[in-house]
Amino acid sequence: MAKPFVAGNWKMNTSISEAIKLARALRPALSGIDGVTRVICPPFISLAGVSAEFVGSDIKVGAQNMHSEPKGAFTGEIAGAMLKDVCDYVILGHSERRQLLGEQDDFINAKVRAALEIGLTPILCVGETLDQREAGNAGTVVEGQLQGGLRDVSAEDIGRSVVAYEPVWAIGTGRAATPEMAQEMMGLIRYEVARLSHIEIAGNVPLLYGGSVNAENAAELAEQRDLDGALVGGASLKADDFAAIAKAFATRA
Ligand code: PEP
Repeated sequence: MAKPFVAGNWKMNTSISEAIKLARALRPALSGIDGVTRVICPPFISLAGVSAEFVGSDIKVGAQNMHSEPKGAFTGEIAGAMLKDVCDYVILGHSERRQLLGEQDDFINAKVRAALEIGLTPILCVGETLDQREAGNAGTVVEGQLQGGLRDVSAEDIGRSVVAYEPVWAIGTGRAATPEMAQEMMGLIRYEVARLSHIEIAGNVPLLYGGSVNAENAAELAEQRDLDGALVGGASLKADDFAAIAKAFATRA
């Protein structure tokens, strides 16, 4: 069974000073929650500062994106090697980047491979839109995103990755998937990850649900068999709420 895992995606929120303040509130709130990997993903500009706040704790830091190329003429972009100095994780393929910035599976796959090569753990996000779900295509879409995102990634490297299922219609809407709905898709994702790697490897890959997770609904989501944790947007900006979510998943351990 994968170790429980919660990650907070701050998105494009917090100034540098606000980020430090939030990190200072999170450190005591998250300490002592054993058996759950806790990862905070602030904006690029606050990565170093937030990382410094967590030195000496077991709270980890992640970036929200990276480029697939190691360096060069990519104005405004950030390479994996730059991130490696300040964090351990990187969110890739978030639906906001897929939808608003046109990121496609090929590019996301190149980033996943670059992240693994440099020693960062990718948190690969997949998830269907409302139209795709209503058309009965949710499973096919998610399978396709997994196959695309993990193409040419070795079984061993898949075992070093994290997958987040984030239905687009649930992100930031206050309308989370029901625990049953989330479990149904998680089962399918576990199966697909096993097919792309090995059944024993897939069992240890943390599968996160994301989409309007909060302090109230985390416990029943955490009861689902294939739901190892959560990728949290809005509620991760409140230290107590994020800590409550981490505690809900700690009871799985
Ligand atoms: C996210 O951005 O990854 C997310 C899940 O957002 P929210 O929790 O706000 O729905």
